[in-house]
Amino acid sequence: MKELTEVLKDWEAVIGLEVHAELTTLNTKMFCSCPIEFGAEPNTHTCPVCLGMPGALPVPNKAAIESILLAGFATNCDIEKHTMFYRKGYFYPDMAKNFQTTQGPKAFCMRGHLDLEVGGKGATERVDIEKDVDGGYVAHVGITRIHMEEDAGKMTHLGGAEGRIDGAERSLVDYNRAGTPLIELVTEPDLRTPEEARLFMQKLRQIYLALGISDCSMEEGSLRADGNVSLRPRGSKELGVKTELKNINSFKNLHDGLAYEIRRQAEVLESGGVIRQETRHWEPGAKRTIVMRVKETADDYRMFPDPDLAPFDLSDEFIENVRVKLPELPDAKRARFMAEYGLPKYDAGEIAGDALAAALFEEAAQGVDAAVAKKVANLVINDLSAWVNANSSSFADERIQPTSIATIAVLLADDTISSKQGKEVLAAVLDEGADPKEYVEAHGMQQTTDTGAIEAMVDELMTANPDKVEAYRGGKKGLQGFFMGQVMKQMGGQGNPKLISQIVTEKLEG
Ligand code: ADP
Ligand code: MG
Ligand code: ZN
Repeated sequence: MKELTEVLKDWEAVIGLEVHAELTTLNTKMFCSCPIEFGAEPNTHTCPVCLGMPGALPVPNKAAIESILLAGFATNCDIEKHTMFYRKGYFYPDMAKNFQTTQGPKAFCMRGHLDLEVGGKGATERVDIEKDVDGGYVAHVGITRIHMEEDAGKMTHLGGAEGRIDGAERSLVDYNRAGTPLIELVTEPDLRTPEEARLFMQKLRQIYLALGISDCSMEEGSLRADGNVSLRPRGSKELGVKTELKNINSFKNLHDGLAYEIRRQAEVLESGGVIRQETRHWEPGAKRTIVMRVKETADDYRMFPDPDLAPFDLSDEFIENVRVKLPELPDAKRARFMAEYGLPKYDAGEIAGDALAAALFEEAAQGVDAAVAKKVANLVINDLSAWVNANSSSFADERIQPTSIATIAVLLADDTISSKQGKEVLAAVLDEGADPKEYVEAHGMQQTTDTGAIEAMVDELMTANPDKVEAYRGGKKGLQGFFMGQVMKQMGGQGNPKLISQIVTEKLEG
């Protein structure tokens, strides 16, 4: 197979995503009051409604509708006041009702869009667009709709290969997840590269997290995507036949699965074959996609309006009450961090994309100048992220005290400690609960900026090496390095190089 960049010279990839998010932060399911809880004892969170018992009547969860409207506002959608739930025919034991309650032609949210800023190496995947001075570009992605539906239960197949149903001896079903509210966002076929698809998913995750409507755990499946992709010759406006990669559960898999599928389709087309409309599965281990099922005819789900659920007529007041709850979104936060704290775009974006990191940053950078704010940002993006990952913790961990972070940032900004020492102080603060100022004093770190001490050391060295001083003054400027090295050595590598270099030069120049 050809490389992706080679393929994209002749073919235009057309990609559309369907992204499912479970509204895991809600207390109860979509149409009943059973709690939503991941990992609970199987079948302990069920009732006649989510088990589909005859005669049980569903009641829509108001908080879930508020959540989907928030998602709609955040993605620039129109809110549909007159919408309703439909029954979609379904036959599989993970849904006891034998139909899924979902939405028909009109969803709660219609016609939205998100803009993606594509930069860095990923931007090179897009060959047909002019790049800005930094090599990046903006991609405009239309959102067809966001609709509400309910999730199915979870099946476990025993005795077969790799937990698959084929060849299994027994299958177990857990209905705890059945009836969990799910929102599905469908994009227009506007994405053109695997990198754009990856960035879209990432941006959407950041938005949903900022809205607080889902925990968006891709490992636990509360955020997952289907990637639809087709190719067409460059210049053509017609859509090609697409294949669909189902249930992608990581950004990397979404990128790599689509990239593989584009290369595979190109090979088929270039050797005179045709693409069949089919659902495929990306196998990250084997690095390939395999056929799951071929779509022979249009799906016939026998959709019809659910007679148990009255159509909605959302009031302006209800919609407005949701709209005012819209929090500051990552893009707006990034712009504010740049304006208010003088952060570079990259730093501002990294922090604004994570609500907890942003909250920590703002607390620590309260009232500081831009130089200190930049140091706080460095600590959050590099050292603290690494610590949070290593400890499987979060930026809300109480061992991360904003005031201590601010203190370390000040010590770094005024060159009292080097960045290497900063890491040491931070580790002591996080892992041993040390006070940063006390730690710096106890470990003699501040002497590194004690100009008097450095001057005395340089004087002593010059007296001991008169020949070298003379040679330097005779033009051998490289000897500055000798004196610097000696001072650094005497200070056990803890000295502030900028300051030492400055003092050594001054003294040698006499
Ligand atoms: P399906 O009926 O197979 O689910 P839809 O028309 O509902 O297809 O579209 C599903 C997703 O696939 C959407 O995100 C849409 O933008 C995308 N899509 C539709 N047609 C194509 C195509 N030819 N190539 C790539 N993506 C497509
Ligand atoms: Mg589909
Ligand atoms: Zn229930």
